[in-house]
Amino acid sequence: MRIVVPAGGIGGARFLRGLQAALGSGADHQENEPTITVIGNTGDDITLFGLRICPDLDTVMYTLGGGINEDQGWGRADETFTVKEELAAYGMRPTWFGLGDRDVATHIVRAQMMAAGYPLSAVTEALCERWRPGVRLLPMTDDRVETHVVVDDDAGGTRAIHFQEWWVRHRAALPARAIVGVGAEDAAPAPGVLDAIAAADVVLLPPSNPVVSVGSILNVPGIRDALTAATVVGVSPIIGGAPVRGMADACLAAIGVETTARAVAEHYGPDLLDGWLVDDADAGTEVAGVEVRSRPLYMSDPEATAALARAALDLALELKGRRG
Ligand code: GDP
Ligand code: CA
Repeated sequence: MRIVVPAGGIGGARFLRGLQAALGSGADHQENEPTITVIGNTGDDITLFGLRICPDLDTVMYTLGGGINEDQGWGRADETFTVKEELAAYGMRPTWFGLGDRDVATHIVRAQMMAAGYPLSAVTEALCERWRPGVRLLPMTDDRVETHVVVDDDAGGTRAIHFQEWWVRHRAALPARAIVGVGAEDAAPAPGVLDAIAAADVVLLPPSNPVVSVGSILNVPGIRDALTAATVVGVSPIIGGAPVRGMADACLAAIGVETTARAVAEHYGPDLLDGWLVDDADAGTEVAGVEVRSRPLYMSDPEATAALARAALDLALELKGRRG
């Protein structure tokens, strides 16, 4: 069975780990042909300190490869921050974004390969040779796409700042007037992305941020159309009118979508979504043209996460069978 999962960072990675557990695959079965292809969001990527930083790809790679800081959900376990302190001592900016020492090594490998001309997809594949995440991890594109957020400036106008500055530095507290994927229109899906979607038995949308994670992936020309032809089941990142973690509500507000499981499904649309899992707290949610089921959707422990991933997969297989 071939499953495609377009994924952001923490929500995507945790869902994927549950899916692997549900399938009995993952790091222990790395010699097997991968059945899961992940299309990773690269809209959060940023160049700082001369290093290309790919937070969502690395979160998926570290989580599935056993190197993640579990409490934080991103970054390396057993991390130290000597490099960050040394950079601050040089007055290097920004100070609101720090890479841990272990993480720096990943970024040096990436920087060296990119300087030698390798595309991000090849770099990601090389990094995964160490981490063996048990999935095929593809960036959504090899082209540079960066999410920017339009906020008010002091002069009564607006200015655009990088998503990371808005999210990490300002904790999404500055009202977002618009969220823009700079470079998205001219981007092409990375090698293997459209082929994986065409070959997929089912596509599962994890409970990733619908705007800046899944939304960025859908904005790469060709990807949304390809996904529309597949059987797609999504898991709601919104439970009881609030994001489970993070500030997805600020992103949804910026694009005029309510923070409810129903509004997110309607935003994805019945052309894209065949099925939608909502939490039991949102049981009774109806979305025209979409099969909605309710389940416990908190990824609170491995068993609960595996169970919701299994439910998403089962619904997708059922709907695929119905489509014939
Ligand atoms: P990021 O790139 O690290 O921000 O992570 P993602 O975009 O992949 O996922 C972020 C989303 O995951 C947030 O909108 C959260 O609401 C959602 N999320 C986090 N934990 C859970 C959970 O346990 N259950 C559900 N349903 N959603 C979750
Ligand atoms: Ca992200």
